[in-house]
Amino acid sequence: MDYSKLVDVYEQLNKTTKRLEKTHIISEFLKDVSLDDIEHVILLLEGRVFPNYDARELGVASRLMLKSLSTATGISIEKIENEWKKQGDLGLVAELIVKAKKQSTLHSTKLAVKKVFDNIRKLAELEGQGTVERKTQLIAELLTSAKPLESKYIVKTILGEMRIGVGEGAMRDAIVWTFFNDKIGVKYTREGNDIEVEDREIYNKYLGAVQSAYDVTNEFAVVAKAAKKGMQSLENIEMQVGIPIQVMLALKVDTIQEAFETVGRPAAIEFKYDGFRIQAHKSDKGHIRLFTRRLEDVTKQFPDVVEFVKKNVKGKSFIFDSEAVGYNKKTGKYLPFQNISQRIKRKYDIEKISQDFPVELNVFDIIYYEGRNLINEKFEKRRKLLEKIIKQEPMKIVLAKSKITSDKKEVEKFFKEAVNAGNEGLMFKALDAPYKPGARVGYMIKFKSVMETLDLVIVGAEWGEGKRAKWLSSYAIACIDENGNFVEIGKASTGLKEKEEEGLSFLEMTRLLKPLIISEKGKEAKVNPKVVIEVEYEEIQKSPTYESGYALRFPRIIKIREDKGPEEANTLDYVKKLYEGQKKS
Ligand code: AMP
Repeated sequence: MDYSKLVDVYEQLNKTTKRLEKTHIISEFLKDVSLDDIEHVILLLEGRVFPNYDARELGVASRLMLKSLSTATGISIEKIENEWKKQGDLGLVAELIVKAKKQSTLHSTKLAVKKVFDNIRKLAELEGQGTVERKTQLIAELLTSAKPLESKYIVKTILGEMRIGVGEGAMRDAIVWTFFNDKIGVKYTREGNDIEVEDREIYNKYLGAVQSAYDVTNEFAVVAKAAKKGMQSLENIEMQVGIPIQVMLALKVDTIQEAFETVGRPAAIEFKYDGFRIQAHKSDKGHIRLFTRRLEDVTKQFPDVVEFVKKNVKGKSFIFDSEAVGYNKKTGKYLPFQNISQRIKRKYDIEKISQDFPVELNVFDIIYYEGRNLINEKFEKRRKLLEKIIKQEPMKIVLAKSKITSDKKEVEKFFKEAVNAGNEGLMFKALDAPYKPGARVGYMIKFKSVMETLDLVIVGAEWGEGKRAKWLSSYAIACIDENGNFVEIGKASTGLKEKEEEGLSFLEMTRLLKPLIISEKGKEAKVNPKVVIEVEYEEIQKSPTYESGYALRFPRIIKIREDKGPEEANTLDYVKKLYEGQKKS
């Protein structure tokens, strides 16, 4: 296929922002693409030549591009650079100078998609001496045969600057519209920017099939090729060790009740670690590869993890899902994600950074084992398998801390334990659920902050006004800092009743606090920190007003915690963790 046909599609796609129109443009185009070309075309449409989980890089910076443009056109680097300053975009510069050049020479051959694709791919393979020269030659060879618009897109593709805005959804739909249109009869109308299909159910079935194939291959090029061969080929697509699978995503709920309603009772509850997801693969040959949640290959960045996956996990081949969490080397305590995030992109001094910022792998799911795809197995069984094959070694690799329960109280206790240990909260998992790649279905629920009621100590109170003049009606509340001091975090007055018969009243609270008064100034009283109350609130905010450095938005008193002494009130550390947790939700 001629590259010019693809360029024509790029131009059309650039003219619209409408997703359905883009889908239509791609699907019309794909109809004429041969089986040999289809993979190249799809990747180039996505602006790349390697799947996005492939860590290979072209290694072409603007300097090298300037040199290649100069070699191809005979125009000096300096002149091209000046033009670049004016235009601000090397793709556009390429178009302009190739246009000027072509008018004078009027000679060009047709450029094939395959040629463009092959030359660009070769760029990634070159290493060692003479690399710059050889890369320049490969690019210049394309540019000499390219028409002006073609040059623009070649340059942009090589520099990784293609932005044609084709999302995953549009690509998936385009594949369905192209290869299964005889079954679904989709009609797109440009005027209404709308589609009609003969039967929604059948349409959804094909969308689902294409999506499932994408979930396990992560590459539309492979999916489109299979779809072109037919439904059977599409259904035969299997997951492969070494190719990342879209990860299962979590839903969020606000109450334990809701969590249980979604995943069923009993459920597995696990610590929700504040790290980053790692999907670890081991192939029959013993190669380990690690991918992030966004499916980037980070094997090189985590030699430490590779080591303990190799040593502590039994089995010839597997794919498992886990969370890598940073910890403080000295104290062993977990650190928030920010502390280790720099490891993900790091390209140098990898050994040193792995020692300075060690991570512990918390394994929570397994999707493939010894040649078997496990996504349709029940979660409970998958977890049991993990328990059998992982030799736990704290600060290296452990199983996600977990418990099976249907009891709300137990969940609350586990939540506190999780947060106190530096985690974000809990995950609920449905015991009988499959692993659903790429989907945010209710098999896994995150639960971060609902129980963020705080148990706080009353350290001060204020006499009311008007009909509340006889009552201490507003209370200074405090948590405990790392030195054991009570530090204020706000003032609460809502939640108490004026009439005794309606519940916890101002009068009752006044009776409790009055004997505890240490000193009074105007309406304000300081009280001995004895009374612990449970407080609900909308949000924790940073605040210079209070000693703790935090304030509660809309605090509301729920009850007196007679069962708790002041030393059992929540700590400032706990407040900080809740604050961090809510920032991310
Ligand atoms: P969120 O990023 O808030 O949507 O929460 C989902 C993320 O929590 C997952 O992608 C994992 O990276 C992470 N996570 C931490 N602990 C667990 C766990 N025990 N099970 C599943 N995911 C977990």
